[in-house]
This record gives sequence, structure tokens and C-alpha cells, in this order.
Amino acid sequence: MAASPDPSIGGLLARRQRPLVSLEFFPPKDEKGLRNLTRQAEALQAIHPDFVTVTYGAGGSTRTRTLAVCEMLRTLDLGPVMPHLTCVGSSRDDLARVTDELAGRGYRNIMALRGDPPRGATAFTPAPDGLAYASELVAFIRDRHPEICCGVAGYPEVHPEAADGPTDLRHLAAKVRAGAAFVTTQLFYDNRLFLAYREAVRAAGIEVPVLAGLLPATSLAQVERIMGFCRASLPSPLRARLADAGSDAEAGEAAGLGWAADQIRDLAGRGVAGVHLYILNRSRTVLAPALADALAELRAAGGGGP
Ligand SMILES: Cc1cc2nc3c(=O)[nH]c(=O)nc-3n(C[C@H](O)[C@H](O)[C@H](O)COP(=O)(O)OP(=O)(O)OC[C@H]3O[C@@H](n4cnc5c(N)ncnc54)[C@H](O)[C@@H]3O)c2cc1C
Repeated sequence: MAASPDPSIGGLLARRQRPLVSLEFFPPKDEKGLRNLTRQAEALQAIHPDFVTVTYGAGGSTRTRTLAVCEMLRTLDLGPVMPHLTCVGSSRDDLARVTDELAGRGYRNIMALRGDPPRGATAFTPAPDGLAYASELVAFIRDRHPEICCGVAGYPEVHPEAADGPTDLRHLAAKVRAGAAFVTTQLFYDNRLFLAYREAVRAAGIEVPVLAGLLPATSLAQVERIMGFCRASLPSPLRARLADAGSDAEAGEAAGLGWAADQIRDLAGRGVAGVHLYILNRSRTVLAPALADALAELRAAGGGGP
């Protein structure tokens, strides 16, 4: 029997009395990974996230894995579970099948994305009879299932394929016109970039809440790897602190978590609508007192601005 339908995250955001906290998981490769993720997710119930999301990769197997992880998370007390969905390698029929299944199972929230070009390719090519942009995916989902709330991605440092910031914002506006209820940003380490982006979003007439995407760093090597596949600049004080930690894993983690905690506290004071943590399937970093305390302060901040 289908589970009872999830509440809409757009609705949660509209009614919020404080900033929301969401966590992002990715589907592990095998059963052992899923068992480990289940343990991590169980521990993360202590954080009481407002919702959690699960990424989506290209191809059929990851599609099944995304759903398997979502179903596992739904058995826990982690708030509504929001699967991601991309246009990569999927025809309209494929996308219809996936969204119908999710809607039938009671999912009421989908993070709608275009997806990245396959490794080695420089440009994104839609699948035959597929969709070219996330705005088309939002329109497709909302047309087929108006009960489903869509979130979309935003880029404080501009999407790498966009000609410039204003062009990227016009494309963000198209996603919201198509029916997206909120924006979650790409990760960033410099809050000034997020705040300037949020201002530009509002100046472009986009009124939906913007959630801040944060990935707590644990080492310089890790952050440099991340910089390799997403555009995010590394502030020199953070680089210096991670470099000072050298090969001392504990010191690297303390430096990265301290930075993320400062980011969260600063955002709390600036009326952020919510914080989305890219946790890389690890509970340890989020449960560490440095981060857990900052999240508690964020929630106590009240209000919850734009
Ligand atoms: C919160 C978040 C979650 C993510 N989750 C996943 C995931 O689960 N799986 C995954 O594979 N990837 C994921 N990604 C990465 C994302 O798929 C890539 O960043 C991808 O390159 C762009 O996706 P998008 O949805 O932003 O695309 P779009 O909004 O379609 O934008 C892609 C590019 O096209 C441009 N553009 C948009 N509309 C038009 C138009 N009409 N004409 C011309 N240009 C246009 C935009 O400016 C941008 O440069 C995620 C990213 C974020 C920030």
C-alpha cells in the first residue's frame, strides 16, 4: 500500500517560523553501502531535519537506487523525503514513468534538475524525445502532477555553462515561472557570494525562498576535488586553515567544521530561509558538536527570511 502523501516542502517553507534544515544523501553503489547509509541516516534523526533529499545519477540502475534510498529514509524520522530527478538519458515517457511512480508512492516533492553532461562531453545533449532544461522538467512534472512541489538549483557563482550572471538568473526565473517553489544553491564557502546572489535573485523579481547549500570541508584535498567538478571559490583563510592541518585528519575536520559553523551562524543572523547540507552520506560531521550547536542556533534564530 502507498504511504500517506508527504507534506509539500513549499508549504513548509511558506509556514516556517524559523530557517529550515535539510540534508542531502546520494545512493550508494551496493547493498553494503546501503546498510552503512541506513546506520548514518538513523543517527541523523537526532538532528531532526525538516526534510532530506536523495541525488539522482544517469542510467537505470541509479534510478532504482535513488528510489531504494528514498524508501529506506521514509521509514525513519527525517521529515519528507525529496528525490532528485534529472533529464539525463530520459525520454518524456521515461520521466513520466518515474514521476507517476513517485506520485503513486506518496512523494510530493521532487528536486528537478537538468543534470550534467556525461564525463568527457562538453555540452549537454537531451535524450531523444527528452528535455533540454530543468525549466522544462519542472513544467513537465507540474503539468502531470500539480500536487508535486518542485525545488530547483541556483548558482551563487554562476552556472559554468551560463554566459553570465544575469543570463543565468533569467533561466532561474524561467524555472520559477514553470512552477518551482524554492531554490537550493550550489555549495559555497563565502557567505558574501550567497548574500549578493540572493539580492540579485530578488532584484530579478524571483520571490521564492532560497536555501543555502553548504558542504562542510574536511580536508584541503577533499575541497580541491570538489572544486574540480563544481564552480565554488575557496576563501584564502579557509585554504590556509586546511593547509595548516596538513595530513592531520582531525585538525582538517575541525578547521572545516568550524568554518561551516561560522557560515551557518552568520546566515542565521541574515534571515536565511534554510540551510541545505551536502553531507556526503556521513553523519559524523553533522553530529559533531561544532556543527550541531550551530544548527541549533540557526533554528533558534526564528523568523526565517527570504
Ligand atoms: C541543489 C543541487 C542538487 C543537484 N542534484 C543533482 C543530482 O541529483 N543529479 C545530478 O546529476 N546533478 C545534480 N546537480 C547538478 C546539476 O545537475 C548541474 O549543475 C547541471 O549542470 C545543471 O542543472 P540545472 O538543473 O541547474 O540546469 P538548468 O537550470 O537547465 O541550467 C543548465 C544551464 O543551461 C542554462 N539554461 C537554462 N535554461 C536555458 C534556456 N532556455 N536557454 C539557454 N540556456 C539555458 C543555464 O543558465 C545553465 O547554464 C545538483 C545541483 C544542485 C545545485
